[in-house]
Amino acid sequence: MTAVRTQVLIIGTGFAGLGMAIRLKQAGLNDFAVLERAGEVGGTWRDNTYPGAACDVPSHLYSFSFAPNPDWSRSFSPQAEIQEYLERTATDFGVRLHIRFHHEVQGAVWDEAERRWRVATNHGDFEAEVLISATGALSDPSVPALPGLDRFEGTVFHSAQWRHDHDLTGRRVAVVGTGASAIQFVPQIQPGVAHLTVFQRTPPWILPRWDRQFSRAERWAFRHLPLVQRLARAGIYWGREQMVAGFVVAPNFMRAAEQLARRHLRRSVPDAGLRAKLTPDYRIGCKRILISNDYLPALTQPNVDLVASGLTEVRPRSVVAADGTEREVDTIIFGTGFHVTDIPVADRIVGRGGLALRDRWAEGMKAYKGTAVAGFPNMFLLVGPNTGLGHSSQVFMIESQIAYVLDAVQHIDRTGDVVEVREDSETAWDDGVQRAMGRTVWTTGGCASWYLDDRGRNTTLWPGSTWRFRRHTARFDGGAYRVVEPAPSPRPVTANL
Ligand SMILES: Cc1cc2nc3c(=O)[nH]c(=O)nc-3n(C[C@H](O)[C@H](O)[C@H](O)COP(=O)(O)OP(=O)(O)OC[C@H]3O[C@@H](n4cnc5c(N)ncnc54)[C@H](O)[C@@H]3O)c2cc1C
Repeated sequence: MTAVRTQVLIIGTGFAGLGMAIRLKQAGLNDFAVLERAGEVGGTWRDNTYPGAACDVPSHLYSFSFAPNPDWSRSFSPQAEIQEYLERTATDFGVRLHIRFHHEVQGAVWDEAERRWRVATNHGDFEAEVLISATGALSDPSVPALPGLDRFEGTVFHSAQWRHDHDLTGRRVAVVGTGASAIQFVPQIQPGVAHLTVFQRTPPWILPRWDRQFSRAERWAFRHLPLVQRLARAGIYWGREQMVAGFVVAPNFMRAAEQLARRHLRRSVPDAGLRAKLTPDYRIGCKRILISNDYLPALTQPNVDLVASGLTEVRPRSVVAADGTEREVDTIIFGTGFHVTDIPVADRIVGRGGLALRDRWAEGMKAYKGTAVAGFPNMFLLVGPNTGLGHSSQVFMIESQIAYVLDAVQHIDRTGDVVEVREDSETAWDDGVQRAMGRTVWTTGGCASWYLDDRGRNTTLWPGSTWRFRRHTARFDGGAYRVVEPAPSPRPVTANL
C-alpha cells in the first residue's frame, strides 16, 4: 500500500489539533491531514464523560477566540456542551474532510534522505513535510501499579474511561485520588452508592465555585451584541491574569485565597476531625487549585469514609490502605490523572539520527517555546513542555502556539526549507523557564504534584503571564533555527485531501 502524502500532518483532534487544522485552512494551506485514534473530535471532552464533568475556567474564555459561542448555558459549561461545541466547530469550519478517524499513530520517523516524516498508523502509512503533534498532555490515563489489582474480582475503571454500563446504585465503591476529576464525580455518585471510600494521599485546596446559569437576556445579548461577549471574555481573562503574580513571583500573595479556602472548608465540614484530614499543609496553588461547592459536603455524608492515605494493595474483594485497614468493595474508580511528564507519543516520534523523542528527553521534557525540539526537523508540538497553566484557559496558550506554528509552516511553504530549532536556542529557552520556575509556588509551596517529573523538575507549567507567552509566539523566529541540509530538491507534487 502506498503512503498518503500531504504537506502537513497533525496528530490529534482536541482543542489543539482542531484549532491548528482550522487555522491552516483559513490560511489557504489545504494540503494537510489530521490523524485521530478515536472516532470523533474533542480529545479531553470526548473522553471525560464521568458524572459532573465540566470545565473549571469559565466557558467564555475556555473556547476559541475565533469561534465564540453565545449559547453557553452557564459560566462553567458541562462536558457535553463543550464536546458539542467542538464537534460543531469542526463542521462549521470545514475541517472534517481532512480528519482520518480511527487512525492511531504508531510511529513517526524523520527520513533524512527524503526530508520528510514517515508516519505509520494502524490504518496505513502517511508522509509529510511537516509533523504537528497535538496528542494532549492529559490524554492517556494513568493507573498506579498496585499489587493485586489484576486479581480484583469487581469492576475497575479510570474516570477518563467511565463505565456507563456499570450501574453504581447500591455498590460499595472505592475512589482513588482526590484531584480535579474526583472532586467533580464524587458528589454525583455519593447519593446512589451503598458506601464510598475515598483514598486521599494529599488534600487539595478547594475554593467555592461561582457558577451560575446564564439568563435568556444574557444569552440574547451574547448572540446579538457580540461586543458584550467579547467584553465578558476580556473580563474573565484579565481577572484570571491578576492571579499570575501569586503563582510565579510572590507566593505569599496567595494567602488571601488560602483564607477563603479555609473558610469554605469550615462552612462545608462541621466535624473537626474530618476537617483536619482535609486541611492541606502546603501553600495554595502548589497543586492545582480546585473549585467545588458539593465535594466537601458529600464527604460529610454517613455513607462516605475518607481515608487520608494511599491505597497500597488490592485483594480480590477488598482494598487495603497504607495503615493496613481493609475495606470490602465491588468497584474501584481511579481518579489518578494522566501520563503528563511521560507522554506516550514520545516513544513513537523518532527524529534525526534515529533518536526517539523519549531518549532526547532522558533528562526531562523540554522544547523551545514549548513547541520545537532540537533533532526533530519540521516538527512542532502543541501543548508541549511548560505550556500548561495553573490559573487560566489552556485554549489561550493553544491559540498562541497555533499562530507560531502556522507562521512556521508558511515559512516552510514559501522557502521549501527544512527547519530545526538550534540546540543553543532550546537550551537558553529552557534555562530561562527553569530559572523562573525557582520562585514559583509550584517550587516553593511545599508539595509534590503531577506538575513535576520524577526528578522534581517542573516540565509542565508556564511560569509567567499568558500574554508574555503570546508575545514570544507571535511570529516564527527563524533566527533560532537552522536550515537542515541537504538543500531542497524539487518540491514534490502533493495530493490535496
Ligand atoms: C477532566 C479534564 C478537565 C479539564 N478542564 C480544563 C479546564 O477547565 N480548563 C483548561 O484550561 N483546561 C482543562 N483541562 C485540560 C485540557 O486537557 C486542555 O484544556 C485541552 O482540552 C487540551 O487539548 P489538546 O488538544 O491539547 O489535547 P486533548 O484534548 O487531550 O486531545 C488530544 C487528541 O490526540 C489524540 N491522540 C493521542 N495520541 C494519539 C495517537 N498516537 N494517534 C492519534 N491520535 C492520538 C487523542 O485521542 C485526542 O483526541 C482539563 C483536562 C481534563 C482531563
